[in-house]
Amino acid sequence: MSYLKLSGISKSYGQFNALEAVDLDIAKGEFVTFLGPSGSGKTTTLMIIAGFESATSGQVEIENRSLFGLAPHQRNIGIVFQNYGLFPHKTAAQNVYFPLQMRGVKKAPGLRKAEEMLELVGLKDFGHRHPKELSGGQQQRVALARALVFEPSLLLLDEPLGALDKNLREQMQIEIKRIQRALGVTTIFVTHDQSEAMSMSDRIVVFEKGHIQQVASPLELYHRPQTRFVAGFIGESNLIDVKITDAAKGEARNGAIGPIDYAVSDRASTGSEATLMIRPEHIKLSRNPVGGRQNVRMKVETIVNYGDNALVVGKVGDHTMRVRVLGADVVIIQENEECCISWQRDSVYLIAK
Ligand code: ATP
Repeated sequence: MSYLKLSGISKSYGQFNALEAVDLDIAKGEFVTFLGPSGSGKTTTLMIIAGFESATSGQVEIENRSLFGLAPHQRNIGIVFQNYGLFPHKTAAQNVYFPLQMRGVKKAPGLRKAEEMLELVGLKDFGHRHPKELSGGQQQRVALARALVFEPSLLLLDEPLGALDKNLREQMQIEIKRIQRALGVTTIFVTHDQSEAMSMSDRIVVFEKGHIQQVASPLELYHRPQTRFVAGFIGESNLIDVKITDAAKGEARNGAIGPIDYAVSDRASTGSEATLMIRPEHIKLSRNPVGGRQNVRMKVETIVNYGDNALVVGKVGDHTMRVRVLGADVVIIQENEECCISWQRDSVYLIAK
């Protein structure tokens, strides 16, 4: 059942189409992330839902009711931006009370509710402090409490963790998930950080150039990307352009690598062009060919060590391949040496052109 529904949303700025015919259904209580490169239309979509921007065409509905003509404050939507937007002269509790005050809630019960929200976001006893007396992460929690205090039907988070350092960011990712689950509030989170999207979301919406490329769970996106763009954007991948030589048998050919067998699929027919995806962690590196797998020879160019694993980059003919190996395995090979790389047919995933 769709809770929030976008139908045919387009947005033009003069000649430029920032969004083209975006359709999306979000279920009640879902945590959905908008992911995509800079300028792909994530924030524009969010602002149209919030009512700060109007769509050139299309509809936004919550529970089958159009939001058309409703001002942002009439939409019952909580919003958190990257730059918290707290009132500097108000205390944390007064900041959180503010949306209730706007809705006519009296001071005593309003401040009580604000303190409850501050406790939920882990800021019990911080209500009397002003924003400048709080760290970045604490200010972001106040902003979150303020967005949630009036029990919105939808929570919109636009790069809320962008200003935080890596550790604090990871801590806040867990916190936001915990609070979202506790309240069951339908949430849209905007980020261009794919690991953040992967770790937090029920589903991810991948944007590119004003279009939605794919909407799916994190694992579905990783293992079954529908387009070459999604395959390249989510995680690391080897993308190999091929011609299908026998679709029924799952056989293809690439100019540099030669014949490659893939997991049989009806997404492409014999004679057509396609892309094969092999994730770097599905490739094995060895000195000699390994039985039961497809083997090719690779000239190693670069080894990047990360401690517990390493990325080995090399050439098969003129095609660059990336192989992810566990720390101990990498010692068998050095830069500029020849080695074998091998994979199983099931790890070769076909993406139609
Ligand atoms: P980022 O991750 O950088 O925030 P985004 O995916 O959120 O990017 P949007 O902010 O939605 O991207 O912008 C989509 C496109 O629309 C961009 O090319 C942007 O330059 C353009 N755009 C946004 N607002 C305006 C405006 N007021 N006038 C003209 N073009 C605009």
